[in-house]
Amino acid sequence: QQTLKPLHVAIVPTPGLGHLIPLIELAKRLVVHHNFAVTFIIPNDGSSITPQKKVLEAVNLQSISSTFLPPVDLDDLPKDAHIVARIILTMTRSLSALRDSLKVLNESTRVVALIADVLGSDAFDVATECNVAPYLFWSSNAMALSFGFYLPSLDETTSGAYQDMLEPVQLPGCVPLHGRDFLDPVHDRNNQGYKATLSVSKKFKLAYGIMVNSFMDLEPEIFKALKEAQVSQGFPAVYPVGPMIKPSSTRKSDGEHECLSWLDSQPRGSVLFVAFGSGGTHSLEQTKELALGLEMSGQRFLWVVRSPNETTKIGTYFSSNAQQKDALSFLPDGFLERTKGVGLAVSSWAPQIQVLSHESTGGFLTHCGWNSALESIVNGVPLIAWPLYAEQPTNAVLLADDIKIAWRVKMNDKGIVEGKDIAKYARGLIEGDEGRLLRNKMKELKEAAKVALSQQGSSTKSLAEVAEILKGHK
Ligand code: UDP
Repeated sequence: QQTLKPLHVAIVPTPGLGHLIPLIELAKRLVVHHNFAVTFIIPNDGSSITPQKKVLEAVNLQSISSTFLPPVDLDDLPKDAHIVARIILTMTRSLSALRDSLKVLNESTRVVALIADVLGSDAFDVATECNVAPYLFWSSNAMALSFGFYLPSLDETTSGAYQDMLEPVQLPGCVPLHGRDFLDPVHDRNNQGYKATLSVSKKFKLAYGIMVNSFMDLEPEIFKALKEAQVSQGFPAVYPVGPMIKPSSTRKSDGEHECLSWLDSQPRGSVLFVAFGSGGTHSLEQTKELALGLEMSGQRFLWVVRSPNETTKIGTYFSSNAQQKDALSFLPDGFLERTKGVGLAVSSWAPQIQVLSHESTGGFLTHCGWNSALESIVNGVPLIAWPLYAEQPTNAVLLADDIKIAWRVKMNDKGIVEGKDIAKYARGLIEGDEGRLLRNKMKELKEAAKVALSQQGSSTKSLAEVAEILKGHK
């Protein structure tokens, strides 16, 4: 009987729904297509586990279970510690609980692999100790992964702030990347966020393989360069297995959101969707400029408005945006009345995947979170790229300069994107020649994404290859 039991995979996500959601999609495929059982072992930084529990419960597959590790104490962290330091330390301080959990699981079943996510490579040591093969799931793109691979050598061979480097870095297979577009935790070499990022990057090499939430036709040159680096520099094998995004639920399943019926009454491809991910916020001044720009553009828009925040652009990463009821009260006087009929502003949250798959949506002004980028690609919606934090500036370079499906915003000397420019981008994307070019390229990629995930597609084959290797670890 023992031999008929499915082999087990442990998945260890770091805090934040943006990491968990694609990992759930990975788990579903491992279970449904490759007959594994999966247990999520989830470290906790002390914030509510309700949002994570909710998305896990919705999976409803017997072979997927989850266990939450006890919350860690982060009270000793300085107030200005980078969020990435918080996330990585959550993992580091959970290692002993993770070890216990993995041992218990290993006693009742055969765990063949532990899959950690982008910021969780500290878990590799525990995996190796428990005789479990360590893997990484990279929830972002291949360009950001390349940066991670080369960060340790950049650290050794350069000095000073990366933002001040005069020349861009030329990562193999990638378009040039300026220091100012490096992921934000590495901007200040003295911050804990930098040290933590560098330390997890150094461990990437220990992975037996790295699955990437991207696909071959999206970043062909970069995947090719990563393959070469595997041979020439001993980097781990890299497997493009995406796009893995949350499937679109039926409209009524979570209660119909008002914006969907509003979209129903708009002309095809006419609406600019404006949203900044699960955590993105702006200052009051920037919120007002954005309002001004959307109004000046005369374009139809659907805007997910957040309460302004003067100190950070990551307003609500760990908490729920549903708590922000009053975001619309920060909009300029008379804005809602003047734009009535043309635009709709909603507070804090909209069902993004349903919005992007709606035929009235013609463009997306996005913060370039990688889930958002993939969700646009599978729906063929062209982008205005307005990166805020994390690896979003690198994503913006990839989307605008390499793949050419986004128009990147420019900031003035004060770091503000001005209203008149926002109006130009909105008009250009929805009605102009700029938008036409980006839309055509997007349509090609929408098809390519579909093909990659089809039965004989590159991502399907790539995941099957990983699955076979995992079975070999038995
Ligand atoms: N999202 C949503 N409604 C919103 C804002 C975000 O449904 O109003 C979802 C979006 O569809 C995506 C995720 O939240 O799946 C955001 O992930 P992403 O990687 O784009 O950005 P992050 O939140 O990690 O910055």
